[in-house]
Amino acid sequence: MTDKSVLARDWQDLIESLPGVVYRLEANSANHFRFTYISPIIKDWFGFDPADLAVDAQPLLACIHPEDIEGVLGSSEHAASNGSYWHQEFRMLKSNQQEVWLEAYDRGHKDAYGNRVWTGYLNDTSERKELEKRVQASEALFRGIVENANDIIFTLTANGQFQYLSPNWHEQMGYQVHESASQTFDKFVHPDDIEICRTYLQQVLGNPDEKIPAIEYRVLAADGSIQWHTSNGTAVTDPNGHVLYFLGIARDITEAKLARDKLAHMARYDLLTGLPNRAHFQELLELQLKHANNHSKALAVLFIDLDKFKPINDCHGHAVGDSLLKIVAQRIQRALRDHDVAGRIGGDEFTALLNGFERDPNLIEAEAKQVAERIRHALEQPIHIDELHLEVSASIGVALYPYHAEQLGDLMRQADQAMYNAKAAGRNCVHVCPLP
Ligand code: GH3
Ligand code: MG
Repeated sequence: MTDKSVLARDWQDLIESLPGVVYRLEANSANHFRFTYISPIIKDWFGFDPADLAVDAQPLLACIHPEDIEGVLGSSEHAASNGSYWHQEFRMLKSNQQEVWLEAYDRGHKDAYGNRVWTGYLNDTSERKELEKRVQASEALFRGIVENANDIIFTLTANGQFQYLSPNWHEQMGYQVHESASQTFDKFVHPDDIEICRTYLQQVLGNPDEKIPAIEYRVLAADGSIQWHTSNGTAVTDPNGHVLYFLGIARDITEAKLARDKLAHMARYDLLTGLPNRAHFQELLELQLKHANNHSKALAVLFIDLDKFKPINDCHGHAVGDSLLKIVAQRIQRALRDHDVAGRIGGDEFTALLNGFERDPNLIEAEAKQVAERIRHALEQPIHIDELHLEVSASIGVALYPYHAEQLGDLMRQADQAMYNAKAAGRNCVHVCPLP
């Protein structure tokens, strides 16, 4: 065997071990097509013998999908007449009508006899096409979910720059998506909440395997309004675990948040006067007692009950009584020092918590009495409601921590008792529990 024929055999072995089909297609001036070479694997693919195709290529060419045949032949002829490279993806039908996708690379030219000749390689890309279709379908599915979700779905880079924003961004916030993408999130977040958001972003990106609880924050909509949003975030990583970006889902919770805040406020504050109610006043007192205990301070609790308030209701109606209670609340607050706290614990019963005293029983008694007298004096001033000139007064009881009681309940009871003593002593006066 000559070197040349060994080489030719090697080439043939190489070509025939390729996963695709190598071919040389020739067409004469009478448009008779034949494959002067085609890899034997074509028999496995389409059932044709290369020897038969060497005589007539037509049976194989007829397998090209009817919708693709025109494009394949047209562009092939063009390549042959130019001597250019040709690349095309097209479908063929097997004898059982199964559709396969093929990708052909060849080069056309004309030989010395005027025949058009194409030499190239044909690859079965059906699997890749099927995968592409599946990826497209899955992409369409997720795009549909993201774009139709009621939430805003977004991605951020590690330095807080928006990359993707779902269309709801425009619907809920009023900004154009393309204008906001590539801006940093802090342009849209309330200045007081930027730090919470920044910390959350770093926490999520720094701990990709952990589920970090959602945050609530305020955002600034395009019309200048403020919305409350809650966001869940997760770090998207590559197969090696390197963080690529932050994927977030933001929900507008403005209505729910305001309703929740209103309920929480209603649970702690008296609707009529806006003062802390009994439960909240006790919470505040409890806190102050702890503080006073830890810092060896003293404090005073005042119980203030209006005198003969019922007749005002009876004579002028409940609405007038309500207006009077509001004015009483304002007068009490005004008579207090800055850090003192007023409360309304019942119908015409108010309280005050005076804090920040040093532990000197004489000094605190004098100061508490002074504030109580200021309140008493403020309340005995005539009250004008519409055309009415009303007069009330108040009986005030004072109890001091830690001198009269150390526990909240006991202190409240002592102040209440002192207030009853003031009533019994003729009303419109201040009574301090006697020091033990
Ligand atoms: P005293 O001098 O002994 O305190 O007698 P009083 O007339 O002030 O009566 P008392 O403190 O025992 O009762 C308070 C009254 O306040 C009873 C109730 O009719 C009235 N009241 C309670 N809550 C409200 C309210 O929200 N609005 C109005 N207008 N009246 C209220
Ligand atoms: Mg009363």
